[in-house]
Amino acid sequence: MFDFPLEYEPPVFRPPSEANSLLIQVTLGCSHNQCTYCGMYRTKEFKIRKIEEIRHDLEKARAYLERHHASPTKIFFCDGDALGAPTDFLLECLLAVQANFPNLQRVGIYATGMNILQKSESELQALSAMKLNMAYLGLESGSDKILKMVVKGNTAQEMIEASLKIKNCGWKLSTILMIGLGGRELSAEHCSSSAEIVNKTSPNFFSYLVTTPVPGTPYHTMLTRGKPLTMLSEREELVEMRTILGRISDRQLNSIIFRVNHVSNRVPFAGNLPKDRDRLVSEIDALLPLASDRPKTPSNTIPCL
Ligand code: SF4
Repeated sequence: MFDFPLEYEPPVFRPPSEANSLLIQVTLGCSHNQCTYCGMYRTKEFKIRKIEEIRHDLEKARAYLERHHASPTKIFFCDGDALGAPTDFLLECLLAVQANFPNLQRVGIYATGMNILQKSESELQALSAMKLNMAYLGLESGSDKILKMVVKGNTAQEMIEASLKIKNCGWKLSTILMIGLGGRELSAEHCSSSAEIVNKTSPNFFSYLVTTPVPGTPYHTMLTRGKPLTMLSEREELVEMRTILGRISDRQLNSIIFRVNHVSNRVPFAGNLPKDRDRLVSEIDALLPLASDRPKTPSNTIPCL
């Protein structure tokens, strides 16, 4: 569909599982834009788009898709932390979505812990009732030391509160963890604290991405200077993956769909937790002898987001 009529303001990002969704930019950039490892929106100023522009995009998309006898089942609201937009505005966007795509199953969105905590339960419930009910939360790590180091803007306890709150308001939660974010020095703490948060929050979806320093970010600069972190080797990354999985408790509030399908991972994994935990750990163990022992460096990794 090369003649698709929507004009996006680049760069545009979406989670792997939203590959077939209609992307609608309701905000541009990220209101936080300070995570030291993140280069996604450094070229963009945060902005809430005008509701008229969004209505226009939805009408153009509907007309185009009707001509091609297609209809989206899912929409993803871009950009970085669109849940930070005012609730009234998001509800207006959702009304426009429903007017154009009444059979839509759901709308997804990136969220920060702060976005969730700043909304009341009734606001989150109202959004969920309008089918905005899938949140992708970059937890990144359960370690306060690491969260502070990368200027995530939330403590681990706030991440727990935000995760439980949004689930209690009828949303599905997808939690993303960054393997290797704390380097060798903080690896043990990263594993234990991250597994603890997953056990406390039982996200509906849980995934890994592998930390890849992006040139131009403070995290890349920090690693280039060699202090205070040493990047993991491929083998150590796999050890982190299996260590965290191995600590996922049998007692979960719900079955967790576990997917490792982000472009930063060399090998995909998939299963349900805790049911498939031991099988997934064995699959990772089988890869350990094949993985490189050489610590990565910012110059020998290929940045991806
Ligand atoms: S990781 Fe997410 S919250 Fe942090 S700066 Fe990037 S887009 Fe914003």
